[in-house]
Amino acid sequence: VILADPVDPSEFEISILGPGVGECIVVHLGGGDWIVVDSCVDQASRQNAALKYFQQIGVDPAESVRLVIATHAHDDHVSGISDIVLEAQSADFVCPAASTEPEFVALLELDAGLLETRHRIYSEFQRVFHLLEDRKPGAHYGVRRKRAVSDRLLWCRPPQSGLQRAAVTALSPSDHAIDLSLRALRFLIPKAGSTPRQFASRDPNTFSVALWIEVGDVSALLGSDLLKGPGPSCGWNAILANPQRPTSEASVYKVPHHGAPNAHHEGVWTSLCADDVIAILAPYRAGRQRRPSLADAKVICSLAEQAYITAPSSTPALGAASRAQRWKLSDVASAVREREGPTGHVRLRYSLDRGGPWRVTVGRPARSLCEDPPPPRPRKRRRRRHQKSRQA
Ligand SMILES: [Zn+2]
Repeated sequence: VILADPVDPSEFEISILGPGVGECIVVHLGGGDWIVVDSCVDQASRQNAALKYFQQIGVDPAESVRLVIATHAHDDHVSGISDIVLEAQSADFVCPAASTEPEFVALLELDAGLLETRHRIYSEFQRVFHLLEDRKPGAHYGVRRKRAVSDRLLWCRPPQSGLQRAAVTALSPSDHAIDLSLRALRFLIPKAGSTPRQFASRDPNTFSVALWIEVGDVSALLGSDLLKGPGPSCGWNAILANPQRPTSEASVYKVPHHGAPNAHHEGVWTSLCADDVIAILAPYRAGRQRRPSLADAKVICSLAEQAYITAPSSTPALGAASRAQRWKLSDVASAVREREGPTGHVRLRYSLDRGGPWRVTVGRPARSLCEDPPPPRPRKRRRRRHQKSRQA
């Protein structure tokens, strides 16, 4: 369920939307300025989650969205992002510096015949790049596509009539991570007469864009799928070692990589987050190990004051249409399931006029991550016996 009550211009909002695979974050920086980070599509309705939310709360993306950010080239983060770029006509498009080099675009063309998922990702990016080519130059630097690299200020609103300063800064990818990506791309460009090698030698998570968002003196950290490393000069290791990193503390933390241990860095919680930080995340159900696992959730709940997830990481119950399909397919498939299920919504709003705390509202199947599971329902037989004994 995507919530539908409009936001006040004086409120800072962070919303995370997600089916079981994929996530999209929508941020209101006050004063009608919005950014969209990644994109996901509802499995049943095929509607773009961010665009549906904007429609429901009466926000015109063409007027209000300042940035559309693709944190990295994975299907669960870029699904439908070109539709957002199409609607958000005055926004700049941001992707990791590693994804905007000519070599990358060349590979898009060359690699179109690869696996279906990868092809889907490439066609999203291709459509975005084509849309941007047709647009008038941006107001500020005459560009529409921005490369994210650590320490880059992507968007800023100076303090103005009743509105506090707002800023969106990239914390990653580090320069070293970009070097690694370029080295990998150069290696992949085929030489005359040789067959093209598969484009998969570096995990796009390595070049993920983590974001620091400030409105007045309130800060939030959006961790995308950024990993701990590899090595001291990439990922969270590089951010924590960077003397230019933000000095304030985030009161909201979008946990990276769906809570997976390879993105967990204790230092992020202790050095970048406030003690009473609220953690938010979306699950990932497509892998062999669903994220967050019970152990991942335990770690998050031990470090955050509160934590919310857009949907449980377990597979949702089958809807009627899928049950019918399962019956039809029973001869050939034993485990027909809905991978994604309905889109959940975790919404945090903070009054910039009156101050905190953050007000948290959830739209099903979003829920608190740290609640104890509901107590088991008494079995029917036991209840009957109980009734009998009462009659007796
Ligand atoms: Zn992801």
